[in-house]
Order: sequence, then C-alpha cells, then structure tokens
Amino acid sequence: MQRQPSKRRQRQGSFAAIPAAPGTYALVLHLSRPLAISVGALGRIRLTPGYYAYVGSALGPGGLRARLGRHLRGPRTARWHVDYLRARVRPVGVWLREGAERQEHLWARVLAQLADGIVPRFGASDCDCPTHLLRFDRWPSLARFRAKLGRWVRRDSDSKIEVLCCQIRTISL
Ligand SMILES: [Zn+2]
Repeated sequence: MQRQPSKRRQRQGSFAAIPAAPGTYALVLHLSRPLAISVGALGRIRLTPGYYAYVGSALGPGGLRARLGRHLRGPRTARWHVDYLRARVRPVGVWLREGAERQEHLWARVLAQLADGIVPRFGASDCDCPTHLLRFDRWPSLARFRAKLGRWVRRDSDSKIEVLCCQIRTISL
C-alpha cells in the first residue's frame, strides 16, 4: 500500500507551488458557522457563514511565497487584521498574480463588485478602499473576476492567476 504524504509534506508542497516573486493575491476562506471576533483596532465584528476573500499584496522579500506561507500556516502573532481572522477561519484557496505593481486596491474594488457583502474597513486602514475583505454566498467565481480585472490590467504572456489549496488552475489574463 502506498503511503499518503504527511500533512506537513502536503503543506510544503503547496507552498513550493507559490512563486517567491512579488505579486497580488486573494486569500479565500470558508466560514461554516457564524463568528464574532475582535480584530485589533477595528474592534469586534460579526461574520455570517460563507466564503470570504481577503486581498493583499506581497512586494517585499520572499514575495508571494513568504506572505502566503504566513497566511496558510497561520501566524503566531497578530499584526494585520487578516491575522485575527486567520486564527479562527480556514483558508481554502488562493488566487495570485505575479507583478511588482501594487494592484491590491484595484483587486479589492473589482472583487467588491462581484461580492454579496463586505466587511467594512477590514484590511483597509492605510487606504481609502471600503474594505479588503469581501463576502460571497458561494465559492467566488475566478472566471468572472478574471474577466472584470482584465478590463483594467495590461494583458501579457506571463501574467496569470492561480488557485491553490483546493484546486490548482493557471489562467492567463
Ligand atoms: Zn485598498
């Protein structure tokens, strides 16, 4: 009988698929029951069950792999709003796009047009976006997001969005 890879190996495998390059990402999380949590300076928030997409960018050392590795592993200390959420809610997917240009605010606004709800000001302390955390009744549609985003960003051969964790897909814009 073939041995299953250990959980640790599976996790390392998924991290290895994430480029250590700068880029923008959406971390997709699934909440199966209502949740009330305290989120730093934002205070106490109540979340209804559904899918949540948190948008950020990773332009520093280690790029997307370092940042998403932190989100997927779960950070030991809470630094950003998303860390409080991540401590209680499971990530189920990642969308990412490589590129040194900061696109998180664009992504947050484009995703907000597709979302069923928003969590006001979450992850948006340092910008004037309504939020960086969007709520969806069902698994958010990458195809619809890609189509909307494609109207705003330059299409080039090396641009791509990937979904990791549950499924891995690579889509060129
Ligand atoms: Zn923003």
